Amino acid sequence: MTELDPLLQSFLYIIGGEIAIEVGKELLNSVDEDITDEDITENIKERIKGQKDFEPNDEEILKLNTVRKTLYKLYSEKLAQFRRIRDKSTGWFIYFWWHEFDLIEEILLEKKNLLRQKLRDRLEYERENYFFACEECDDNNIKYPFSEAFELNFRCPECGGKLVAQENQDIKEFLKEKIVQNKKIKLSID
Ligand SMILES: [Zn+2]
Repeated sequence: MTELDPLLQSFLYIIGGEIAIEVGKELLNSVDEDITDEDITENIKERIKGQKDFEPNDEEILKLNTVRKTLYKLYSEKLAQFRRIRDKSTGWFIYFWWHEFDLIEEILLEKKNLLRQKLRDRLEYERENYFFACEECDDNNIKYPFSEAFELNFRCPECGGKLVAQENQDIKEFLKEKIVQNKKIKLSID
């Protein structure tokens, strides 16, 4: 049985937990055949039979419905595709599935770039705005941008206390650090 690449395995786990890894293995090992969600469920059942240390609980993983939900999760993450045909005898649709794991680097790169853009936008926002907070409401984390504080006449709407400028250097440092980390992430698959 071909094993999943570790990066792919981690991604599958994030998407759908332990079962997504099992479904991923089935898709990876059935590239040359037409495989339905029912086949996948049966194969997993067969494969993990007798494995005592399987987690999470086996009952959940063996349900056809759980496998179907997992396949749709993979589909919405662009890691799986299907085609369907109508079974002439029953009138029901049969779904045949296959993986698109070759796209994983692209998918992850897209996510990585999206995250970096969000961090940058946030950093820019922090750089361009002064924030004000009430000096008396201690447990109150509400921050007001300058325009809002100005409209409030620099008075706390909760208690009438004075709104004072907040230092946001820590947040900016934190965001910069996150951006550096994001750039360092490597997404290559052997
Ligand atoms: Zn206050």
